[in-house]
Amino acid sequence: MNPTDSQQASPWRLAERAAAMNPSAIREILKITERPGILNFAGGLPSPETFPVAAMREACAAVLAEGSAVARASLQYAASEGLPELRQWVATEMGKQGARVSPDQVLITTGSQQGLDLVAKVLIDEGSRVLVETPTYLGALQAFTPMQPRFASVPSDEGGVSAQGLRDVLQKGELPRFIYLLPNFQNPTGRTQDEARRGQVLAVYRELGLPIVEDNPYGELWFDAPPPAPLLARWAEGVIYLGSFSKILAPGLRLGYVIAPPQLYPKLLQAKQAADLHTPGFNQRVVAEVIKDGFLDRHVPTIRARYKAQRDAMLAALDQHMAGLDVQWTRPVGGMFVWVTLPAGLNAQALLPQAVEAGMAFVPGAPFYADQPDPRTLRLSFVTSTPEQIERGMAMLAEVVRAAVS
Ligand code: PMP
Repeated sequence: MNPTDSQQASPWRLAERAAAMNPSAIREILKITERPGILNFAGGLPSPETFPVAAMREACAAVLAEGSAVARASLQYAASEGLPELRQWVATEMGKQGARVSPDQVLITTGSQQGLDLVAKVLIDEGSRVLVETPTYLGALQAFTPMQPRFASVPSDEGGVSAQGLRDVLQKGELPRFIYLLPNFQNPTGRTQDEARRGQVLAVYRELGLPIVEDNPYGELWFDAPPPAPLLARWAEGVIYLGSFSKILAPGLRLGYVIAPPQLYPKLLQAKQAADLHTPGFNQRVVAEVIKDGFLDRHVPTIRARYKAQRDAMLAALDQHMAGLDVQWTRPVGGMFVWVTLPAGLNAQALLPQAVEAGMAFVPGAPFYADQPDPRTLRLSFVTSTPEQIERGMAMLAEVVRAAVS
């Protein structure tokens, strides 16, 4: 039987929502970047050097201590809402950022990626309008797409969405179900929305009753000063907030959280129950054990210092090697990414094979756009390379660009 025969004989019929799912464009691209020896700036992973292995090992041992009731409880089914200690921790941390959150509003999720999936299931009907930034986080587009929304990209600059861009888009169609925003050290651009801009756009959201899904996995990774207060702190009833332990502890734990207004919480909880009953209780107990005595206050500054040195190396290398080329890039004040715009007429995707040939890899920017992509753009991660590798990688990229424009 050849593959075509077996396809024809298949008794399965896909749901429309499955037909709407796409293989992650990035995963396909990353395959060509995985050549051994390549300087890889394409990934979106945190640095494994930052994972607190010893603290995790001790916490695992404490949770599984012989004869302890916690050991058995950690291996039992658990509450769908999440471990009370973690929900309380989230509420307390948000309080420090000016947001008054009750632990009852906190839903522990299997990564904040699950939060995006639950939000999509609870809020999007086929054809619903959903606003996103230009560009936006690819994983959110992937999570929302199966619910078959109509995306509208809001014109955005280095400060994120603008009040005028927002008004223009809103005038053109029905009121969207929500706008999806990444105010801090955005993936993919690294940009941050400043205090003034947050105030301006929030006035528009409130005036029109446009709810916000605020995604903030990178907010703790600031380099010089914390970012402005979250949107949640400014409009409690109009914001669903997503947070994550992936970038401050380790992504393999798959621990994130959603903070929802009380009237939405039960629906998100029901969607969560249908998805996985609860986030692994063992992981939750281990993390609660790790963080209980202020561990993150000591640990996160070490991540900030490391990433800041890498950011500095990347900006310095870009300044040096791109001199004389009409290339632009963001200057992130936190997070993991720099966003590069190549000279007019160049296409980042088309240049990738040449970059890989030269010995370095990036992610082309096109998949991060909900509609019209800017083909000149690309994303660089600075957190999984040494300053010396960053210097060499940026020199290679500049050579590839120089060859393409000459
Ligand atoms: N949102 C954004 C903007 C991200 O970059 C990521 C991870 N790449 C996520 C959400 C999902 O993170 P996690 O599920 O690991 O919490």
